[in-house]
Amino acid sequence: MEENKIGFAKDDRNMELQDLGLYIHVPFCARKCHYCDFLSGPANETTIQKYFHALYKEIESYQGKTEDYLVKTVFFGGGTPSLVNASYIKEVMLRLREYFRFDQDNPEITLEINPGTITRDKLLLYRDLGINRLSFGLQSTNNQDLKLLGRIHSFEEFLENYQLARELGFKNINIDLISAIPGQTLESWEKTLEEVLGLNPEHISAYSLIIEENTPFYDLYSPGSPNEKELPGEDIDRQIYSKTKELMQEHSYQRYEISNYAKAGYECRHNISYWTGKDYLGLGLGSASLINGARFSNMHDLAQYIENCAKLEKEQNQKSNLSQGEKPLQKPSIKNHPIQIRRDYIELTKNQQMEEFMFLGLRMCHLGISKQKFQEQFQLDIHEVYGNVLHKLISNYLLEEEGDRIRLTDYGIDISNGVLAEFLLD
Ligand code: SF4
Repeated sequence: MEENKIGFAKDDRNMELQDLGLYIHVPFCARKCHYCDFLSGPANETTIQKYFHALYKEIESYQGKTEDYLVKTVFFGGGTPSLVNASYIKEVMLRLREYFRFDQDNPEITLEINPGTITRDKLLLYRDLGINRLSFGLQSTNNQDLKLLGRIHSFEEFLENYQLARELGFKNINIDLISAIPGQTLESWEKTLEEVLGLNPEHISAYSLIIEENTPFYDLYSPGSPNEKELPGEDIDRQIYSKTKELMQEHSYQRYEISNYAKAGYECRHNISYWTGKDYLGLGLGSASLINGARFSNMHDLAQYIENCAKLEKEQNQKSNLSQGEKPLQKPSIKNHPIQIRRDYIELTKNQQMEEFMFLGLRMCHLGISKQKFQEQFQLDIHEVYGNVLHKLISNYLLEEEGDRIRLTDYGIDISNGVLAEFLLD
């Protein structure tokens, strides 16, 4: 058996296994950005250490329950995974490799990075751990925008980090951008985009700013608040949208999802698995999973999560003390374990699965959905279920049907929220 640099044994069994994506949540940030409502925030080293100890226990608790799966992708998200000591990331990776079976064929392993939080040594360790995709949270190349957003870094710091990652051989890099920042003009967005395109990253995510409740931005910019007029209006938004499309096309990026653009072959495989309904398991605080038609997520309270993971450890110890002949009541699986850290759990109905098939699949702009796959998955002709809706949306040039595929038109992408809502059944 071949081994990679850090000594992970590669698995050479060749069985019919189900693809699995793993999401690892690292909920720590140097400080909170002004627009952010993610489950994240600053913490001291003691808390970070306790959290990772709990996360290791959560991973270990899956021992013996993952044999039907083959891990195709891993995504370290947050929060800011690059903020914490890289030895924590190493310990997580070692356990993932020990308790899950990894695809031999170059699994995609992504880690989110905030400029200003990485060093040469961290990047070298990530590389040795098999992390082969970096996702930089840049948001804007304009330092005034960055200050307004409450980001911890400047564009210059990002550039240093980006060049270092390239120097060290990272060949698959995403850059996250936000448009519709207060005070942003078409010209300033165009400058950001051109500067980023000049760096030639393999992937660019470009999301519009959403003013979320319970954030400092909500007090400043929500409807009716004094600074609301600083948000770019609909006109600018539309111009930003078409300029983005034009520049991305000019530079050979394909818009493969509503907010995501990639060079050919560099689409994010992990995110594609979300949009195409593949199984994924979230590990860590608040992380969400979809396993075999069940959606569940972990609790959001950090102290409670740490406490309950300690119980998992005890339970694990008790189980390993059971007498040899004792058989579990049901086959251990990812789906029925570990309830102590779950916040919610639902088995999706067939209708809910069909809805998700449509509104997640249609987010994949170029590809759209396959009628044949719908038939195979639900034993129903798509026109039996959605005939009227499809007819209406196609007649209004919001969707197009070509052979086996149905996809959004450019106009449909423009107003995708309304279009996708048409697929709700109940
Ligand atoms: S770095 Fe990301 S997760 Fe952390 S506060 Fe800022 S936007 Fe939120």
